[in-house]
Amino acid sequence: MPLGEKKLIQQIRRLSGKTSALVTGIGDDCAVLRVRHGHEFLVTTDFSIENIHFRRDWHPPEFVGHRCLTRGLSDIAAMGGIPLAAFLSLALPPDAQQKWVDRFLDGLLDLAREYNVPLAGGDTAQSNHGILADIVVVGSVPRGRAILRCGARPGDSIYVTGTLGAAAAALTRLRQARSSQLPRLRAQFARIFKPQPRLAVGQFLRRRSLASSMIDISDGLSSDLDHICQESKVAAELGESLIPRAKFAADFASNDFALNGGDDYELLFTSARPVPSKIAGLPVARIGRIVRGQGMRLISVNGESRTLAPRGWQHFQNGS
Ligand SMILES: [Mg+2]
Repeated sequence: MPLGEKKLIQQIRRLSGKTSALVTGIGDDCAVLRVRHGHEFLVTTDFSIENIHFRRDWHPPEFVGHRCLTRGLSDIAAMGGIPLAAFLSLALPPDAQQKWVDRFLDGLLDLAREYNVPLAGGDTAQSNHGILADIVVVGSVPRGRAILRCGARPGDSIYVTGTLGAAAAALTRLRQARSSQLPRLRAQFARIFKPQPRLAVGQFLRRRSLASSMIDISDGLSSDLDHICQESKVAAELGESLIPRAKFAADFASNDFALNGGDDYELLFTSARPVPSKIAGLPVARIGRIVRGQGMRLISVNGESRTLAPRGWQHFQNGS
């Protein structure tokens, strides 16, 4: 490990932040969290693994840190929850440089400050091969009010926030790039590789009881909608032309990227009630409806219907 473990923990502790929900943070055996009366805990854990979720030559360390925390916060958002604290376990190989770790923590802690989420603990270890970062985020939600995947009913409309497909399009562009083009592309893709967790939208939907089910799009629309269908025991029909594709370069991300690309961290939800076209400044698009039965169908502009399989995109399949 570049810094000794003790020094690394001291560094993290100095930067970790404080809130009223955090009674005791780094420096004791456990963190002590205060949860509001009448609330329940939410807990989520997500790996960020080198060459699976990121590449050191493609993703600047700040982006890796930012996205590592976004993955956890996005899960809290998908329940309509309020984040309370994050915990980071970091395993570093001998070839990881201190500069990389510093910049990774900068990216992670900048986002943590933005959403007032203290880093309340974690662990460090040496890895034999590759960087592994595991983020745990603890949040809370009023008792019985968490928005689950299992609440979609036939007749509900299906909605998605923001636009889809940019992250997959950017990765494909990086894969095709010559190494001399990488610095320019990395800078150009900064916004795409630093996704924002949609916490305000999730909390709005929960407060107004607007969503019957919800999930965040981490694997890709087709795979994540399939999770809602499976858990709710319903089927879904999507309008192909209704899916909000992200602007990418001079064009839009392809339908394939919008349907199957991962890493967008938008919210996908169902509702039986009218939903505003903008929530917390973010566009919300109606993309289809829940129906009886099983499976998913994609309806084209001229009314043709075909089966939609869950084909969430695998970033670095076959270790490429
Ligand atoms: Mg999730």
